[in-house]
Amino acid sequence: MEILVVGAGFAGSCAALLLREELGAKVTLIEQCAVPGGMLRTLYTEEGLPYEYGPRVVSVFRGTKDILPFLRRFLDLQERQIYQGTRLRPEFPVIPFPVDAESLRKLPCGEAIERELAEIRRRGSAPGERDLRDYLESSVGPTLTELAFEGFNRKFWGRRLEQMPAAWGKLRRLERIAAVGQYRLPSEAPHYYPTGGFNPLFDKMLEGFDVRYGVTVERVDRSAGRVEVVTNAGKFSADLVITTAPIDALLGCRYGPLEWRGYRVEVEVIDEGRHGCLGAAPDGIPFSWLYTPWPETVVCRTTDFGVIHHGARAADRDGPTVLLREIVDDTVSMYPVWWEDAKFYRYLADASTIPGVIPLGRLGLYKYTTTDSTYSMVRRLIDSLERYLAGEAAERYDILRNVRGDWGN
Ligand SMILES: Cc1cc2nc3c(=O)[nH]c(=O)nc-3n(C[C@H](O)[C@H](O)[C@H](O)COP(=O)(O)OP(=O)(O)OC[C@H]3O[C@@H](n4cnc5c(N)ncnc54)[C@H](O)[C@@H]3O)c2cc1C
Repeated sequence: MEILVVGAGFAGSCAALLLREELGAKVTLIEQCAVPGGMLRTLYTEEGLPYEYGPRVVSVFRGTKDILPFLRRFLDLQERQIYQGTRLRPEFPVIPFPVDAESLRKLPCGEAIERELAEIRRRGSAPGERDLRDYLESSVGPTLTELAFEGFNRKFWGRRLEQMPAAWGKLRRLERIAAVGQYRLPSEAPHYYPTGGFNPLFDKMLEGFDVRYGVTVERVDRSAGRVEVVTNAGKFSADLVITTAPIDALLGCRYGPLEWRGYRVEVEVIDEGRHGCLGAAPDGIPFSWLYTPWPETVVCRTTDFGVIHHGARAADRDGPTVLLREIVDDTVSMYPVWWEDAKFYRYLADASTIPGVIPLGRLGLYKYTTTDSTYSMVRRLIDSLERYLAGEAAERYDILRNVRGDWGN
């Protein structure tokens, strides 16, 4: 079977590799850029210092731990202690994020927050379900809701809290406040940064594949039992096309474009000194990144790549570091938005009616994914491919829904 994979990002590259290894398929990849990797690339400043635009570390969030042995086939993964911090107001000190009761107490409005949390505990009722404001105010109190969520929500999602569903808070467990911070960012497994950055991953995964770079897919058609892919460099045809390009564009944006939220980035090289420049948690470990949720700044998060690349306690941390600031920009496709749910599923239903065309990845399935959940998604597809190929449109639709998973990562 001849298979064409559109996109040589992590989803496309994983799919190509597993299809070849497990099904012996002949796979060609088409990639619009001059290099593979998509969001998962290590970039370099003019000074030659590395930084990442997308993933900073490999973690196991809601995907499977299988990601770790898979990546270790290609990369040497080094464990990293990842600490997140936040400055809830410009004049406030930096505290760990997720916030904990002990750190909140030290803030200028710490007493008000503590009083509200005590009152919520005394009432003992479940969080309100009317909307996100109700959910948050009834579980963390109005002061913390305003400081940590109100400004950020307006800045990033362009919505007030009462325009968001309570389910959003539940999904992300925004109500959790530990008594004392765990500081180290929790995930099922530790966080890892690969020696030499992420780029060698794609050199190794794609070894021996025919990858056509600089080719942009415009649409897909079906003709004489094969799938035809129309690109800026002519037509390609295959028995099966797995596409990690945006699903709406692939179907001619017939229901209108799907909305996204995202960041553009600003990169600055600074002389960091030995201890990081974003502050440190109470146990002395410097923060890898810092959130600034107040509405008066356009910057949402700042990352110190010195901490991520060299490790929090590395002795050789003198010298310059790359600081990356993320600034809200809705033209960048990073986070799908839940209010496009119905429109997305119309696109998915249409894609299911075209035999031999499978949307995949964060753009193809309009899903916020991480590397571990991307790998899980590809695994689910490979495991259900036989059924998918034999099934009718309704079954293909169900399989694709299952491959995508829910709105959680
Ligand atoms: C800001 C940010 C931070 C992140 N942080 C983390 C993290 O810390 N840890 C983690 O595990 N994950 C993180 N992720 C998620 C991770 O980047 C993704 O899960 C993963 O890279 C998705 O891979 P993909 O192949 O689905 O998409 P992409 O990486 O977007 O790849 C899609 C590929 O398809 C190509 N393409 C698109 N359209 C066309 C077309 N029409 N024709 C030809 N080619 C096309 C693109 O050029 C690209 O190469 C982060 C993502 C972002 C955006």
